[in-house]
Amino acid sequence: MIQKIKGTMDILPEETPLFRYMEGIMREEAEKYGFGEIRTPTFENTELFVRGVGDTTDVVQKEMYTFADRDEGRSITLRPEGTASVARALIENGRYGDPMPLKYYYIINCFRHEAPQAGRSREFFQFGTEMFGADSPAADATSIALAASVLRRLGLKNVKLHLNSIGCKSCRPNYRGALVEYYKSHESEICDTCKKRLVTNPLRLLDCKNPECAALAAAAPRTLDHLCPDCRAHFDSLCRMLDAMGVEYVIDPAIVRGLDYYTRTVFEFVAEGIGAQSTVCGGGRYDGLVEELGGPALPGIGFAMGLTRLVLAMRECGTADIEPARPVLYIAALGARAAECALGITERLRREGHIVECDLMGRSLKAQMKYANKKGARYTLILGDNEIDTGVAALRDMERSEQREVRLADFTL
Ligand code: ATP
Ligand code: MG
Repeated sequence: MIQKIKGTMDILPEETPLFRYMEGIMREEAEKYGFGEIRTPTFENTELFVRGVGDTTDVVQKEMYTFADRDEGRSITLRPEGTASVARALIENGRYGDPMPLKYYYIINCFRHEAPQAGRSREFFQFGTEMFGADSPAADATSIALAASVLRRLGLKNVKLHLNSIGCKSCRPNYRGALVEYYKSHESEICDTCKKRLVTNPLRLLDCKNPECAALAAAAPRTLDHLCPDCRAHFDSLCRMLDAMGVEYVIDPAIVRGLDYYTRTVFEFVAEGIGAQSTVCGGGRYDGLVEELGGPALPGIGFAMGLTRLVLAMRECGTADIEPARPVLYIAALGARAAECALGITERLRREGHIVECDLMGRSLKAQMKYANKKGARYTLILGDNEIDTGVAALRDMERSEQREVRLADFTL
């Protein structure tokens, strides 16, 4: 028996209505805020993610699905996230003449080789947005408000926005110095990975999930205390704008985000009651990314939310029960003539836009009615020789237990 790959999932017809419902809300909200959908390839040159996500990040070092293509010497990677691909697409398609800012959204599958658990899988789904060309705090506030708006419409009352600023190229070295000094004095207490991080990427130390490291991180120097005046003003202005827009947040110096390209604003929406993987949405500003990938200096801000974690959070809030579509009508047929007639009427009504079913199994009348009941058909119609001869049959409303006579040739629903 061939089984699915560990960490992947089958989403069955009972569950797809919930995903479609969520995706519908995501599309509607993104489009309300003026974002257009972009679709990029599932796989890219490995170099894109090494440069775009950052070669010292966990994603690049440990989690990517990378393989040699059949074309010699080419390394390919299944996308672990969406931002780098969107930035590449904007550069490759030279979209600089478009009205600024550029606003894109996507709903994609992503791939990361991680330990599968509740809320963490190897193929997962993200809704994300990216805005390029605007460095004003209003752009950050708008992206955050869009994310909050989606979460609100999904009925998530248990999520909180955590907000921080990690500064820019000019204040980062200053902060990094303070951080390295702090961790040097605690070097014996940190995990082996963090000892390496202290050399390669000290900011990542704050992101470590090891309990002892996390305790040290809580008392570590805070980026907010080391911002340059421009970054400070940007952050203060963002906070005032969120207040004006009625978006609630808590300032959380512990948010640093796992990817290398972030500058200034970083944020996470965290859900209560869904276990350890509680970040349903993460995002931030990435002013150096487009340039890093060979484009012009275009600032950017974006976020991504994980659909399966959102499902867990919606279950927690009792908003995840989205019913699959039910047939409006089931036409039961008795005998060969009636079966042909049933197919004809079924097809006519489907062309009119209705969900209609009839027997495809050659079942008894009783079994056909049982099927109709299981599928939750609102109306049923029973066809036998008599109905075919008179051209009239009884359309039964299963909810109200009423029926009325209809003409087979032209009745509508
Ligand atoms: P985490 O700290 O949970 O690993 P991350 O910082 O690696 O998250 P991002 O790269 O910011 O995650 O991705 C954005 C969102 O995508 C996350 O907040 C989460 O909801 C979702 N996500 C990330 N990795 C996974 C995964 N392996 N399985 C399911 N959802 C995921
Ligand atoms: Mg991760």
